[in-house]
Amino acid sequence: MKTPFICPRCGNKDPDYIGIKNGKPYCRRCIAFHGEMAPPVSPKEKTVKLCLSYSLSEEQKALSDRIVFNFKRGVNTLVYAVCGSGKTEISYGIIGYAMSRGMTVGFALPRRDVVIELYDRIKSAFPGNKVIAVYGSHNDDLTGDCIVLTTHQLYRYPKYFDLLVLDEIDAFPFKGSDVLVGFFRTSLRGNCVMMSATPSKQVVEEFRKPGHEILTLRTRFHKNPIPVPQSKIAIGPLKYVFLIRRLLRYRKEGKQCFVFVPTVAMSRNVYGVVKYFVKGGDYVSSKREGRARIIADFKNGKLTYLVTTAVLERGITVANLQVIVFGSDNRIYDEAALIQIAGRVGRKAAAPDGDVVFLANQESEGMKRAIKEIRYCNTFL
Ligand SMILES: [Zn+2]
Repeated sequence: MKTPFICPRCGNKDPDYIGIKNGKPYCRRCIAFHGEMAPPVSPKEKTVKLCLSYSLSEEQKALSDRIVFNFKRGVNTLVYAVCGSGKTEISYGIIGYAMSRGMTVGFALPRRDVVIELYDRIKSAFPGNKVIAVYGSHNDDLTGDCIVLTTHQLYRYPKYFDLLVLDEIDAFPFKGSDVLVGFFRTSLRGNCVMMSATPSKQVVEEFRKPGHEILTLRTRFHKNPIPVPQSKIAIGPLKYVFLIRRLLRYRKEGKQCFVFVPTVAMSRNVYGVVKYFVKGGDYVSSKREGRARIIADFKNGKLTYLVTTAVLERGITVANLQVIVFGSDNRIYDEAALIQIAGRVGRKAAAPDGDVVFLANQESEGMKRAIKEIRYCNTFL
C-alpha cells in the first residue's frame, strides 16, 4: 500500500485536496501561495539593546522572564492576556534573547495593518537590529534579525524559525484556516509563543499538554468590560466648546478627568484656554517641572482635571476616572495607544464604569479599530 501524501508546505493530507501532475502528487490546498522562498541563514550572535521609553509593570516583567525561561527549556508558551494589558511588550524579552543568540526570530499576525504597526513598534524597541516587515505587496527582503510578517507569508519560511511569536491567533483569517495553521506548524523548527485575548478551547487544550504552559496577564484584574469609547466629532474651536462643557459637567458630578493631548506644546496650550472656564485643573508633560507634585495633588483629589501627554498613558490608577482624548485623530494615536488609554478607565472594581471620549476633527482608522477591538474583547467576558 502506498504511503499517503502529506503536503510538505501546509501539512495537508486530505486526499480531496491532493492532485496528481506528471505522476506526482501535489497539494491543491496551498497552491495559491507561491513566491520567492527565504534564503537560508547561518546563525550569528548579535548585539541586542532594548530601548523602551517606559518600564514594564511588575506583572509584565515576571511574565516576560517566564517566557524566556520556558523557551530555554524547550517549552511553548500561550499568553492569555486581556485587551489593553500590554501583551506585546512582554514578548520583547524573548525576542531580544533569541536575536542575541543568533536564532531566527519571527513575529506573525493575521492582519496586514497590524503587521505594519507592530513592525514600527519592534523596530523602535530594537533600533540596533534589522527588523523587517513581510506582507502581501512588501516582500523584497526576506531576511532580518526579526521578521514581522502576516501568517499568509509563513510559507516562504519552511522549518525556519527558532522562535515564532504568533499574536491574534483567534482573529480572522488565521482562525479556522487549515492552510495558515499548517504554514505555522511547518515554519516552526524551535519553540513558539502564542498570544491571545480570547484563546479558543482547542488552543487551550493544546497548551495543557506536556511541553506547553499557559500564562495569564490580567492587568485588568476585575472582570468588568473596558468602557467602549465614544467618538465625538468637532471641528477646530468647537472641540474646546465640547471639552469645556464636559469638564464643567464632570466637576459638578465630582468626577475626575484626564484630557490626553498629542504633544507637549498642546498640553500647555489646551490648558491655557480651558483654565479660564474650568477651575481646579493643571497640566503635565515630560517637560513640566513639579510634575510629581501635580500628579499627587490629582490623586489626592485636590485637582479635578489634568491635561496630559502620553506620560500618564500607563501605570497610574485612579478610581472613577473619566478620559477625553483631545485630537484623537492625530497620527500618534494608533489603535494600540488608544486602547491603552481607554484601559485607564474603570480600573477599580468599586467604580468600573467611566467615559472615554475620542474628540477629533474626523474619525481616524486608529479610532475605529480601537473601538472595534474593545467591543470584540468585551464579548468574551
Ligand atoms: Zn499544501
